[in-house]
Amino acid sequence: MTHQDTDVLVLGAGIVGICNAIALNEKGFNVTLVDRDEPSEATSFGNAGVISQWACIPQSMPGLWKKVPKWLLDPSGPLSIRWSYFPRMLPWLVEFLKSGSVEKLPAIADAMLNLNRPNLDLYKQLLKGTGHENLIEDCSYVFVTRSKTKMNLETLEWKLRRERGVPIQAITGDEARELEPDLSPSIQNGVLINGQGRTTNPGRLGKVIAEKAIAQGVKYFKAEVKRIVPLTNGGYEIVTDNGNKQASKLVLTAGVWSAKLLKDFGVNVLLEAERGYHLIFKEPDVTLKNSILDADNKFVSSSMEMGMRSAGTAEFAGVDAPPNYKRALIFKDHAKSLFPKLNTSSVQEWMGRRPSPPDSVPYIGEVPGYPGLFYGFGHAHLGLTGAPMTGRMIAGLASNQPLNIDMTPYRLDRF
Ligand SMILES: Cc1cc2nc3c(=O)[nH]c(=O)nc-3n(C[C@H](O)[C@H](O)[C@H](O)COP(=O)(O)OP(=O)(O)OC[C@H]3O[C@@H](n4cnc5c(N)ncnc54)[C@H](O)[C@@H]3O)c2cc1C
Repeated sequence: MTHQDTDVLVLGAGIVGICNAIALNEKGFNVTLVDRDEPSEATSFGNAGVISQWACIPQSMPGLWKKVPKWLLDPSGPLSIRWSYFPRMLPWLVEFLKSGSVEKLPAIADAMLNLNRPNLDLYKQLLKGTGHENLIEDCSYVFVTRSKTKMNLETLEWKLRRERGVPIQAITGDEARELEPDLSPSIQNGVLINGQGRTTNPGRLGKVIAEKAIAQGVKYFKAEVKRIVPLTNGGYEIVTDNGNKQASKLVLTAGVWSAKLLKDFGVNVLLEAERGYHLIFKEPDVTLKNSILDADNKFVSSSMEMGMRSAGTAEFAGVDAPPNYKRALIFKDHAKSLFPKLNTSSVQEWMGRRPSPPDSVPYIGEVPGYPGLFYGFGHAHLGLTGAPMTGRMIAGLASNQPLNIDMTPYRLDRF
């Protein structure tokens, strides 16, 4: 090996890359975190802030396809597809539908829970001593519905949760309003998941952890990475618009953009940009202490530092298509129906790209045939939640001290 600029290059400073950089630094590696932008400005900036340590239910579930036509026909529904893009997502869609089978779900749920469960505690550890500990709050996840029928907790979705010890409890509309007085009287039923966490500013959370990493010695290199080149004597070089850098190890945490950077290695990974939107109500006149999931309209609301944020929806249009902010503005009516007091006069829209594999299980591991080339991307709806544990898993692999977790479900070549 010739000259090295650093031990490890971490490529992508979203929440996953940031948590990787700090975990690798704490293992004693010299780490350089690379991004074309400031930390936590892309997908990790605008999510719903749910730290869902109990999350174990993938997006693809049996019978989902039956609901799809109705969602697609409703312009304010939770799903939209740009039809010109549709043929390109077919290989992903086939695997998506296959993964939502009764036989495959228990293993998927286990893989998700193993990754997600430790993260509320890990975030508290990461924030300790930063002076920003209040960026994370303990709370409940409250699913609410206008349906007069009690939520059926005997369905497969709830059974999978219950079998894994998730603390679920059916509640009435009145009980939901006791927790969140601003909820509409139209709410009739709900489910409560206790022991959750939420952040009051996902973007700032990433920046605070990145600042801590930098204070501990992580270097920040602002550059657009054009490609990754394996070096003949071992290690990797990144070719960027701001010069090249070499390291013996590289961790690819570039969210939805990761798939493209792996193409040169002959790896064709199934990853779709599942684009989601948020709307911030800047002076909401509504205060929430928990994350509220509207089970009828499929979006999450949470009080944050910048106002109340409603977030969700899935749009398949490829990575680069311009945003369609009508998809964010649908939250105006939906949120007003959930919180009648809500002041909707001043709003701000945003779009982000969830990096989604077909089975909702992120890709975490080492690229076969390329020692020292690690990957941690594809966290879909749960990247805020899964980031600290992903960092620990990869830091464990990179230092030959792997965690006591079966890494098979996270492999790149599983499809
Ligand atoms: C509407 C919405 C709501 C969500 N709500 C939640 C939630 O409540 N809880 C939860 O856990 N998750 C949630 N998520 C998912 C979560 O936000 C994502 O899974 C997570 O942010 C992905 O993080 P990341 O670090 O992998 O990617 P990103 O945050 O997208 O970071 C990737 C980084 O790589 C950089 N990069 C890419 N290519 C290059 C290159 N060539 N050169 C240099 N830099 C590059 C980018 O600039 C970017 O900073 C939500 C997502 C959306 C869209």
